[in-house]
Parts: sequence; structure tokens; C-alpha cells
Amino acid sequence: MRTLQDLDARGKRVLVRVDYNVPLKDGAVQDETRILESLPTLRHLLDQGASLVLLSHLGRPKGPDPKYSLAPVAEALARHLSGVRFVPHAPGSEEAFRAVEALGPGEVALLENVRFEPGEEKNDPDLAARYARLGEVFVLDAFGSAHRAHASVVGVARLLPSFAGFLMEREVRALARLLRDPERPYAVVLGGAKVSDKIGVIENLLPRIDRLLIGGAMAFTFLKALGGEVGKSLVEEDRLELAKDLLRRAEALGVRVYLPQDVVAAERIEAGVETRVFPADAIPIPYMGLDIGPKTQAAFAEALAGVRTVFWNGPMGVFEVPPFDQGTLAVGRAIAALEGVYSVVGGGDSVAAVNRLGLKERFTHVSTGGGASLEYLEKGTLPGVEVLE
Ligand code: ADP
Ligand code: MG
Repeated sequence: MRTLQDLDARGKRVLVRVDYNVPLKDGAVQDETRILESLPTLRHLLDQGASLVLLSHLGRPKGPDPKYSLAPVAEALARHLSGVRFVPHAPGSEEAFRAVEALGPGEVALLENVRFEPGEEKNDPDLAARYARLGEVFVLDAFGSAHRAHASVVGVARLLPSFAGFLMEREVRALARLLRDPERPYAVVLGGAKVSDKIGVIENLLPRIDRLLIGGAMAFTFLKALGGEVGKSLVEEDRLELAKDLLRRAEALGVRVYLPQDVVAAERIEAGVETRVFPADAIPIPYMGLDIGPKTQAAFAEALAGVRTVFWNGPMGVFEVPPFDQGTLAVGRAIAALEGVYSVVGGGDSVAAVNRLGLKERFTHVSTGGGASLEYLEKGTLPGVEVLE
């Protein structure tokens, strides 16, 4: 992968694809993490005397929609960087081109949401060509979008000399270590809603790992496949055979699989609802399992003891609704307590849990891209990585 080390940006106009898909509330940025994560790359280029044209998506608008304007993001960015201005035009438009033509060294222009362009997600070659006029070189730093073959990610990278930004480089290096020569023992902790989202990752990681810990709703598909009674818990009925097959393969590969022993259950997903703890394979109707139970928390912590590599994706329960956040927080604490371990966490909810615990520094790497990190671990590459090679 070509990186910023390979780029002399002096006096150049650099087009940078960032990931400013940040949460907004009442027209203001609620969480600046993604903006802050882009700063090292932007400052490095500005220090070299470049001018910067920034592209990003925000949300899933269907065409131009003021609700998804990047204007509030420009305001937030301007608090961290001088010389920032917002260009309120679709990024492939003539107006946008004219606005950036006159940029001087040290100046930064953030263009409007790339998803206001109908050709963005289709990777329209004509749109990519219009993006390519916006800069002399291209830097891809939007790791969270690197699994999308969109015009502002892949299309434009094919047309300009292209380089990975620091965030992109850091993410790819950190994830590559989970696939190449990881230190053993190696544990993977998976949770979240669905097995079907994570089949590819499980299949690619199984031959490399020693322990697989499964929590979240996806555990119930495995528990039911083994003949357990899971009450009203979420089950993917059409994946029961697959779950059995994955368990057989794990056994053949010598991977020890840990499923929940007990669960915290309720009749409804609601804060403050009455909860009960049941054995994970004997949940009576009308209860549904909404978090791993106390025995499982302890068993998972024990299963993690002594590992040298760990990857965690997906919450252990309905993390958004307390008290069903306790299992996820316990797993976060258990991983954070490990010494001398290479630990990576990815995925929106699991990363939120780590942040809430204030334990980010205790992890080797906290991935900014949920979907992108899973796809990288499944395939060993991404469209946005391939195009920089
Ligand atoms: P991430 O965002 O970390 O990648 P996912 O998107 O795969 O994780 O899954 C997160 C979702 O899974 C959350 O909305 C959470 O409420 C849900 N979930 C986890 N455990 C359960 C459960 N036992 N029952 C229902 N939903 C669950
Ligand atoms: Mg999610």
C-alpha cells in the first residue's frame, strides 16, 4: 500500500477522502471522534504546504437533503484547524470545482456530502473524473468506507496518484496482524445481533484461533442448534444447520467454543423491566435472553486469561438498554485487564462500550470501522486497500 511516506505534498492541492459520518443532534456534531482521528493526516499535509480538498459522506441521504449537510462538520473541524471553509455545493459540480481552484497553501475546503451525488454509490466513472479534477493527488483516509467501491473511495483513486492516510495505514496494519502470524493463544469474542453478519469472519478466523467466545443474540442460534430451549430469544431459524456446521468445524480444528451458560432474560426490551437469570439452554417462554449472565461473565473472563491475541466484535447483550449492558461492560473490562496481549476491538457498540468504560488506552487498537474491519478480516483486503497497492 502506498502511504504518506511516499508522497511529497509540497505546494500540491491534495484531495482527501475522510470519514466524517458523525452523529448529529440539533444541527451540531455530537461526537467528534472521527474528526479528531483525521487530524494527523490533515496536519501532516498542511505542514508540507499543501492545500486540502476534503470529501466525505454523512448518513444515507437519497440525493441532496439539508438534513445531511456537512456544514456542521465544517464548523467542528474549524475549531481544530485554521483555514477551513465549507463549500456548499455537490462535490462533482462546476461550482465546487471553481471554489477549490483558487485554494492557497494551508487552506482547507470541505465539500458537501458525496452522497448528494447520484453517481457516488454506483461508482459512476464520469463522477469519479469530476472528483479527480479537484486535486493533483488523492489521499484515502476513510477506513470506515474502505469496503465500499464508491466513486469517492475507489473510482477517484484509480485516476490520481493515490496514497493511504495515517488512519487508514494504522487500521490496516493493526488488522493485518490478526491474520498474519498472530501470537497464540488467540481468542475471538463475537456478539451482536446476527450470525449471518459474521459467517465470513468466523470461517476465515477459525483456522487461525484457539478459542471462540460467542455472546449476544447470535449465541441463541448456536444454543438452539445444540437442542437448547431459548424461549423467545432471537434465533435465525434458517441458520441452525450452519451453526451446527461451524461448531463441527471448530471441533475439527481444535478451537474451543464458549457459549453462554446463563443469561439475563426479560419479557420485554425496556429499561428497568423485571429481569431473571436462567440457564442459557433452558429459557422459558415468554422470556428472551438479553444479556450474558454472571456465570458466563466469569467463564468468559477465565477463557480470556493468558491469551496473547484477542479480537472482539459485537456486544454481549442489548447494550443500549441497561441493565442489559452489564455483560458487554464485563467483557470490555476482562480484555482491558489482560497484560501483554495484542487486543483489537471493532464495531459500533463494542467500541462505544470501551469508550464508556474509559478503557480505550488499554486496547492495542480500537477500530473506527465496524463493517470495514469485519470485511477485512473476512477477505484479507478491501476495495479501498487494493486500489492503493
Ligand atoms: P456492532 O455494532 O458492535 O458491530 P452488531 O451491529 O452486530 O454489533 O449488533 C449490535 C446489536 O445487537 C445491538 O443493537 C444489540 O441490541 C443487539 N443484541 C445483542 N444481544 C442481543 C440479544 N440477546 N437480543 C437482542 N438483541 C441483541
Ligand atoms: Mg452495529
